[in-house]
Amino acid sequence: MKCIKCQNSADTDLKHLGNLCSKCFLRTIEKRIRKDLTINKIFSPNDKILIIKDNSLKAELTIYFLNSISKSIPLKIDIKNKIDNKHDKIVLPKNLDDEIEAFLEAMFNKKEYKKQKEISLLRTISNEEIIILKKILKLKGNIKETKLGKTLNNLEKKYPGSKFGLLKSLS
Ligand SMILES: [Zn+2]
Repeated sequence: MKCIKCQNSADTDLKHLGNLCSKCFLRTIEKRIRKDLTINKIFSPNDKILIIKDNSLKAELTIYFLNSISKSIPLKIDIKNKIDNKHDKIVLPKNLDDEIEAFLEAMFNKKEYKKQKEISLLRTISNEEIIILKKILKLKGNIKETKLGKTLNNLEKKYPGSKFGLLKSLS
């Protein structure tokens, strides 16, 4: 099994991405996060950013990618375990699956979907991709799975790429 991008041996085989080596997988994910930030103008230069660190795997990954991204966008980054009012943006340890769940729950309960200041850096990254990132970056922690999350995971197994379709329909 060879990586479809560089011909090295592939380590991952998610259906929607094809066979990729660890390096190309990591690059693909970072590129997607950067693209989301650029297109949606999420950060402005010199923004004061607060990352919420709750010892979860998603928080570790959020910090990893934000560190890498802040090399090209100047950002003032604080890391804390609680939300405060002193920052321009609050980055929550949430991903694609959390976004879809929050959206569906808000829709069912007719609640407000999201606060303006709050951002999920990993909102384009699925649980399946997070598990692979964990292995590649040798991180600890697990993903908590809710009932609705389980349903989403089964849907993704049956119809690879469906989570990304759902994300598109909510933005
Ligand atoms: Zn490769």
